[in-house]
Amino acid sequence: MKSAALIGNPNTGKTSLFNILTSSYEYVGNWSGVTVEKKVGQLRNKSGFITDLPGIYSLHPLSKDEGVATNYLLTESPSVIVNIVDASQLERNLYLTVQLLEYGKPVIIGLNMIDVAKARGIKVLPEVMASRLRAEVVPLIARTGEGNQQLLMCMDKVGSPSAPAPQEVLLLDYGRTLEEAVKALIPILEKSHSLQGCPASKRWLALQLLEENSVVTQSLTPAELENIASITARCAQQLNKEGIKESVPELIRSVRTSFIQALCNEAVDRSEQKPHNLTEKIDAIVAHPLLGIPIFLLFMFMMFQLTFDWLGNPLSDLLDSFISGPLSQGVSLGLDAVGASSFTRSLVIDGVIAGVGGVLVFLPQIFILFLMISFIEDSGYMARITLLTDRLLEKVGLNGKAIIPFILGFGCNVPAIMASRSIEQPKERTLTMLLVPLMSCSARLPVYALFAGIFFTRYQAFVVLGLYVLGILLALILAKLFSSVLFKDKPSFFVVELPPYRMPQSVTLLRSTWEKGKGFLRKAGTFILGGSVIIWLLTYCGPSGISVSMDESFLAKLGGLFASILAPLGFGTWQSGASLVTGFMAKEIVVSTMNIIYHVSDSGGLQQQISTAFTPLQGLSFMTFVLLYTPCLATVGVLRKETASWRWTLFSIGYSLLLAYFIALIVYQGGLLLGFS
Ligand code: GDP
Ligand code: MG
Repeated sequence: MKSAALIGNPNTGKTSLFNILTSSYEYVGNWSGVTVEKKVGQLRNKSGFITDLPGIYSLHPLSKDEGVATNYLLTESPSVIVNIVDASQLERNLYLTVQLLEYGKPVIIGLNMIDVAKARGIKVLPEVMASRLRAEVVPLIARTGEGNQQLLMCMDKVGSPSAPAPQEVLLLDYGRTLEEAVKALIPILEKSHSLQGCPASKRWLALQLLEENSVVTQSLTPAELENIASITARCAQQLNKEGIKESVPELIRSVRTSFIQALCNEAVDRSEQKPHNLTEKIDAIVAHPLLGIPIFLLFMFMMFQLTFDWLGNPLSDLLDSFISGPLSQGVSLGLDAVGASSFTRSLVIDGVIAGVGGVLVFLPQIFILFLMISFIEDSGYMARITLLTDRLLEKVGLNGKAIIPFILGFGCNVPAIMASRSIEQPKERTLTMLLVPLMSCSARLPVYALFAGIFFTRYQAFVVLGLYVLGILLALILAKLFSSVLFKDKPSFFVVELPPYRMPQSVTLLRSTWEKGKGFLRKAGTFILGGSVIIWLLTYCGPSGISVSMDESFLAKLGGLFASILAPLGFGTWQSGASLVTGFMAKEIVVSTMNIIYHVSDSGGLQQQISTAFTPLQGLSFMTFVLLYTPCLATVGVLRKETASWRWTLFSIGYSLLLAYFIALIVYQGGLLLGFS
């Protein structure tokens, strides 16, 4: 077996299986739209390669990620296709299976989630399926790895070049008229130059053309298309004459669905099926049209309570006292022992430890937040949030699917922007990508943790929740504005699919938390470390030489350029200006810079210094600005790549700066008017 491809409906366990078979770790989540790109991995037993593809319901592409699978089938030639189907939703899943069987390559059907089916009292008979579909059927539980060995063996057997050609393949009879059209199309396809090297069977191609599959038509020349169009037109006419009301694609569809129905009647025993009791009971509350959103907000509030008050802050304090106590002292003693110069000493203690350590102390908060997000994703609650927000998003001109990038954006904006690929309409996709940076990513959390921890100790979770909600509200308002001014597009439809609730496995939860948090640690070791060294050097040198006082340093000069512009917002100091400028590299660096600036001084610790430098209102205005101002360097990079346009990228930077300024101005000046200080 050389290569295999995993194809199936969304949320059927393809990526789970891919991870087990290749010992890699790709994103798994209990909702559709998780995988948007194909991923290739080597099988653990080194017998070949396997490709994980985004989930699709049929080979008719509607969105960019759906096209990935169809394109793959047109251009690459896997030795075997592994079609993953969800045993508890067989009927819907088999539609794709039929199309894959027509494709003409060996197909193995991975009958996944048999545990779920069993728990719901649904009995599936693999042997009956196998004989009706004329393909191997392997029962699986991708979550635990059950059935893997059988699957691997089967892949080896079916996919090896020496394997005997299958005796019989599934050939559905589409009726005389359609079959004649297929027969007429095949010679054209055989002669076609553009299809040379295309691994698909000609019958499959002919049927896809009759179904008007755009990916297939795109690969043909205009002359060929003209020929084909006349055949399909004739076919439609003939059907009309026969008194058939359905269009050609509809007819093909109905032949397939009646075949599937007959198959399921034989192969699926639903006599003991239980209703989805638990899921329904939970949904009656959390997916309630009125109560749903307040419950979601309450859930978020609890999430922040846990992230800060209940668990995060105590852990963070421990870490802080370790870094500023034993660690700094140890390093300092070590440096003395090796006779380090005062330059090195200061670089390490005042630059690196202050800058990197100052951010690392917020590690507990960040990991707790990631753990909660992973829980939302893997339990199935994410899909309910999608359902609740769908109508709201559509009202402001966004696709319901936009909620997925938005929620991912709370972790990190970079993968969130990539996740926008699951949105079909190009304009809705661009709009979503432009607004993702308003979702408060975890890099902004250290800033909130620092400032809200100093100024709003008792209401920290409230204030932080407020900032998150502010980001969301502004995204909705701007979506309405942008979609009516910048884009006018016909709305696209969106079907939310509600998977049953599943208790996330603790291993999966920890792993996906780690995968999200890893990026933060990597950033700490690279960007934040490098940034801290540069920032420290900028504080160490100044126009008048080295080892200058902080106020005479290059950093002070740089930050000073912005001080007067920022003054109306309440934080017109060079310190704030410098932190915000360096924060463009990565928003955590705002905290690193503050740590370095306020570190070298005898007048009390960082917290005390910040509480003298800012008033609570100024602190709030500063946090608002950090929430909204320009996306970080990595986000700008991915925006450029995904929009393929500098114009939109610059627009994103520009509008967010203006927005940040405007909103922070309202917060500060409004607060002053109301009598706060
Ligand atoms: P994909 O969208 O097809 O790639 O599906 P994923 O691999 O992301 O899995 C979707 C969800 O189903 C995740 O929550 C998995 O943990 C869960 N899952 C996958 N396979 C099984 C299985 O065999 N049994 C059960 N109970 N859950 C599964
Ligand atoms: Mg997947």
